[in-house]
Amino acid sequence: MKTIKKIDSLRKELYLYVKKRIGLVPTMGYLHNGHLSLIDQSIKENDISVVSVFVNPYQFGPNEDFNVYPRDMERDLKLLEERGVDILFSPDSKEMYPENFSTFVEVEKLSKALCGKSRPTHFRGVCTVVLKLFNIVNPNNVYFGAKDAQQAVIIKRMKEDLNLDINIRVMPIVRDEDGLALSSRNRYLSKREREAALLMPEALKKVNILINNGVFDANEIRKKIVGELKKSKYIKIDYVEVVNLKTLKSVEIIDKENALVAAAIKVGETRLIDNFILGEI
Ligand code: AMP
Repeated sequence: MKTIKKIDSLRKELYLYVKKRIGLVPTMGYLHNGHLSLIDQSIKENDISVVSVFVNPYQFGPNEDFNVYPRDMERDLKLLEERGVDILFSPDSKEMYPENFSTFVEVEKLSKALCGKSRPTHFRGVCTVVLKLFNIVNPNNVYFGAKDAQQAVIIKRMKEDLNLDINIRVMPIVRDEDGLALSSRNRYLSKREREAALLMPEALKKVNILINNGVFDANEIRKKIVGELKKSKYIKIDYVEVVNLKTLKSVEIIDKENALVAAAIKVGETRLIDNFILGEI
């Protein structure tokens, strides 16, 4: 595996692979099995797989965890080597955002829904870095996780709106044995907080069963999740929403082919998200 930190060097390296299928997996590092599932898929479907590890400052709000976000490049390197990744792209912030950087990508409306309400500049940061990575790597296929369902919906919108000739692949959520969706942020959780956090996947599982049994009233589903989450004093609910999978607007009746049931909570200082999708992003 080659580790490349400079955009020019990456471009030069990738010139060697014209006419090859290139897969890209954008990450912020501190890799877990969720990331690795995207990477495995990329390796399966492409001739060359590029993984980026970049903790993107623009997707963190002023009071968020940018400075303490977990980083362990040595461990990531080892995991990527073992997996058979061809290129690790790990630029520093100055490489991605040189002085006078001033162009941002904003996907309107969708970016203001769900997580956008409490993280108003988050998706602007995500879309900007993702479009930059697309332009740098020029991939055929790019891999994202369904855990960040809103992110995947927004990036697909950006692809359509800006006519990007890239295949966006959205892979299922990978969970720990206890059901908690894997996240680099899980390491912040104390034992007690982790126990509390489990209420979220458990609540989603319960309402998934309800929906499969024909309960399509979105409000009833929402209330059920809120009720489950309120069982722990450690949980502060950011949102629980049932939305249309394309528009991310709230629905009253759940369409089994086109809905997203999503929740975001704070457990102590740690913000966690989870969801389940009915249909395809
Ligand atoms: P991050 O490093 O958190 O920015 O995540 C990089 C990519 O991995 C994003 O496309 C995420 O949606 C995806 N991802 C993170 N956690 C999971 C998970 N538990 N299952 C599947 N994909 C995930």
